[in-house]
Amino acid sequence: MPTSKISPYDVIIIGAGINGCCSAYTLSQAGLNVALIDQEGIAAGGSGAAGAFISPKISKSGELKEIMEIAHAESLHFYTTYFPNFTLVKPLLHIANSPKEGEKVESFKHETHIKHSNIPHKIQTLLSDEALNMPSIYFDIGAVVDAQGVCGAMVEGIDFYPIKVENLIQTDGLWQVGELRAKHLVLAIGAYPKLLPIDYVGLRGIWGHRIDSETSTHIPCILHHHVSISPTTKEGIVAIGATHDVHYSPFSGEVYDMEQGRAGLLEKASKTLKLNNINILKDYTGLRSGSNDYLPMLGNLVNAEATLEKYPHLRHGQAVEASEFVYYPNLTMINGSGGYGFVLAPYLSKRLAELLVEGEELNPILSPSRFFPRWAKRQS
Ligand SMILES: Cc1cc2nc3c(=O)[nH]c(=O)nc-3n(C[C@H](O)[C@H](O)[C@H](O)COP(=O)(O)OP(=O)(O)OC[C@H]3O[C@@H](n4cnc5c(N)ncnc54)[C@H](O)[C@@H]3O)c2cc1C
Repeated sequence: MPTSKISPYDVIIIGAGINGCCSAYTLSQAGLNVALIDQEGIAAGGSGAAGAFISPKISKSGELKEIMEIAHAESLHFYTTYFPNFTLVKPLLHIANSPKEGEKVESFKHETHIKHSNIPHKIQTLLSDEALNMPSIYFDIGAVVDAQGVCGAMVEGIDFYPIKVENLIQTDGLWQVGELRAKHLVLAIGAYPKLLPIDYVGLRGIWGHRIDSETSTHIPCILHHHVSISPTTKEGIVAIGATHDVHYSPFSGEVYDMEQGRAGLLEKASKTLKLNNINILKDYTGLRSGSNDYLPMLGNLVNAEATLEKYPHLRHGQAVEASEFVYYPNLTMINGSGGYGFVLAPYLSKRLAELLVEGEELNPILSPSRFFPRWAKRQS
């Protein structure tokens, strides 16, 4: 292999979505020398399409709720403190979109520490009867960020390389991508093909479509119902979105029907309130990358082949401690944030920095290796 003229970095990050950009920002703030790679550009994948609401996840108590509440508080602080020019703070009204979700909203209301109050009268007058009659929660503080703007701002001054990575090589203790080398590699590639034989990592792409539009209806707060309807950081522009389509994949070769997507969004928005004189300005589409258990992923990746060779009886359900698995050295995956990538990225990036800079352990609940034993059992 030819010797590279470029000095090794501390970290190479593959993927310049919100996870890659926020990690690049946080790691470089922590003093590491970072190279960021993307095949398309900054926020060109799912992140560029995001409505990028910093909203609490309405979920029942448990690990997911605890992590999401911490992440939500940390991200509100993060964006308003470090990227205020790309962050719009507004109250947030979450309205249940089904009786089942209504139950979740009611129990969340009783358990959450996040400040909420009654819906102000002027907002009530805007809402449809359907929206008014469903359980809802009105948070005094919510936020929406400019997805592409904030990603661009995060990586200012960081070395960016427009490369499509085909494979990953590690030689002499350094990861190598083209001319670039680094001790640590961070894989932040969202719902794109995985680059390593890690079929056990349970990820699914969830296609989404949202639109920016003008309307003469004044939207005083962020609304989440069947879709979100919200003011944005751009004066006079209202974001409407997004769809959740688990069947369509841009990798299938099938063409996405934009007109049908727009019609679906406007029809859903009309269930919340009446939008007058609407003029669609721009469409955004992309893939979210969701984990099978809804928890995000942050951690090392198990080398499946080497681990099965070491513990062949994993195929028959042998219980082996996760610490005994064979891992790809100095390689961390950050992924699986589903529809909450912008909420989770500051939280995940902070823990990544604690790992790489201070050697702190990551929360095993978030480890992608949690999916490995079950997958291994199916390999017999
Ligand atoms: C329509 C829509 C609305 C959303 N709304 C919200 C919201 O309101 N709030 C919120 O918090 N989240 C929202 N999300 C979710 C959020 O956008 C995702 O969780 C987030 O984008 C995940 O970011 P990521 O960095 O993991 O992946 P991505 O943004 O998909 O980035 C992955 C990057 O990796 C690059 N890449 C992949 N493979 C390679 C390779 N081999 N070589 C080089 N580069 C590679 C890709 O080009 C891509 O840029 C929304 C998503 C969508 C699609």
